[in-house]
Amino acid sequence: MSTALACTGLDAGYDGIAVVHGLDLVVETGEVVALLGPNGAGKTTTLLTLSGVLPALRGSIEIGGVPFGSARSVARRTRTAVRHGVAHVTEDRGLFPGLTAREHLRLVTRDRDIVNRALAPFPPLQELLDRKAGLMSGGEQQMLAVARALAAQPAVLLIDEMSLGLAPIVVEQLLPVVRDIATELGAGVLLVEQQVPAALAVSARAYVLRRGRIVATGDAAVLAADRELLTSSYLGE
Ligand code: ATP
Repeated sequence: MSTALACTGLDAGYDGIAVVHGLDLVVETGEVVALLGPNGAGKTTTLLTLSGVLPALRGSIEIGGVPFGSARSVARRTRTAVRHGVAHVTEDRGLFPGLTAREHLRLVTRDRDIVNRALAPFPPLQELLDRKAGLMSGGEQQMLAVARALAAQPAVLLIDEMSLGLAPIVVEQLLPVVRDIATELGAGVLLVEQQVPAALAVSARAYVLRRGRIVATGDAAVLAADRELLTSSYLGE
């Protein structure tokens, strides 16, 4: 196994003010790692920084062992992230309501084999290629958002709140697909998720953030069994 993503001593935030402090985090290739924590802990801020949308205020980020740099412009940072093989499924899914699923995928690649591989984990989506994203259900949109990220053949896949607005049964179907993606593609996946047991069930390891600092980390199965630790991490009891 090699390291897909590593950040060391990372401070992240807005307008120069850190809301995430001294984050040390590693995701190996082929590994799913959950980033957990209560509302406002800094999970989304972390992902936005790892995909270059926000600048790192301090510390370093390496993708595949290569330093990410800290260009001033968001366009440069996000371009660098894409070049390094980072794909980010944002909380709002970032789809264009007026474009079909096929058009979304074509924006990423014209290679049919790659598109077919990106669609393979999602049989329902294969039936909806000519449907506009705005007319899809939440679950179908989420499948499209992940398939589009896969079409970019990522080395690092960042997924923010995949379960948001989805029925539990859809989440139960989608999350194992994430683990398969990591195994089959060899991508390192960092998964932000409020549905903690479901996220831990598909992850190898997890980090728990609270008020911008890591308060617990370890093997996902061990954390899943330690309800007390998880509850106190979330509620600060
Ligand atoms: P949630 O689970 O509610 O999505 P989160 O763990 O993803 O929470 P973040 O969205 O990263 O948390 O927010 C971390 C902190 O940064 C919060 O205190 C939040 O209010 C603050 N924050 C988020 N976006 C901005 C912004 N654009 N400008 C200033 N502060 C922000």
